[in-house]
Amino acid sequence: MAVDPLIELRDVNKYYGDLHVLRDIDLTVGKGEVVVIVGPSGSGKSTLCRTINRLETVESGTVALDGRPLPEEGRALARLRAEVGMVFQSFNLFAHRTVLQNVSLAQVKVRGRKKGEAERRSRELLDRVGLAAHADKYPAQLSGGQQQRVAIARALAMDPKALLFDEPTSALDPEMINEVLEVMRQLAREGMTMVVVTHEMGFARSAAHRVVFMADGRIVEDRTPEEFFTNPHSDRAKDFLSKIL
Ligand code: ADP
Ligand code: MG
Repeated sequence: MAVDPLIELRDVNKYYGDLHVLRDIDLTVGKGEVVVIVGPSGSGKSTLCRTINRLETVESGTVALDGRPLPEEGRALARLRAEVGMVFQSFNLFAHRTVLQNVSLAQVKVRGRKKGEAERRSRELLDRVGLAAHADKYPAQLSGGQQQRVAIARALAMDPKALLFDEPTSALDPEMINEVLEVMRQLAREGMTMVVVTHEMGFARSAAHRVVFMADGRIVEDRTPEEFFTNPHSDRAKDFLSKIL
């Protein structure tokens, strides 16, 4: 699809010591696009996600958000980073705060909203992820799937331009996976720009505009789900698909 670019990585290279973990990465994610990243363990998927919002520095290349290069550090970086929400495998909720407080805290601290305004917005978002009735509970009182939906509401509360998901359902019991994927599908339908690392190939087929296949720190294929799943070009992708499908 012809789209306005939101996230642009150009010729990005990253090393951990001697390990060349991202190699010549060129990736553009357009506004409203859903890009699913797949690939074997250790191929650099998480590192790529963290690179997109500069939780990791890179040795060469550029990362730009909405046409602006990401600054190296400082307040400008913090501001831009807040525009890209991140949802991890482990939900990282504050255990001693209620669900409502978990969704509200950063709105006050990062976005400077008044407490009442933040809580109003939090309740709206909790309603959107199907958790309106759980606002006053603590994370431990919720299932894993519910906790992950709180984490999604918390990310949305920053009004991000894009959301990154790094294996958001990998820590969940099977019966909870779908409720989280359904929230993600809904966000996709509403036009949220999303980069999603996942092993859920059903989600990739149904929700992704593009599938990016990584191996050994490189993007090996970047194609529509239809093309990727029915006619993978590379031996690496064929081998990967034969193991998981
Ligand atoms: P994936 O998410 O695809 O499994 P990662 O991005 O987590 O891959 O890791 C890519 C490679 O970088 C792996 O070989 C991993 O062991 C290595 N790696 C990841 N994080 C670090 C780190 N903080 N320090 C050193 N090596 C790391
Ligand atoms: Mg990973």
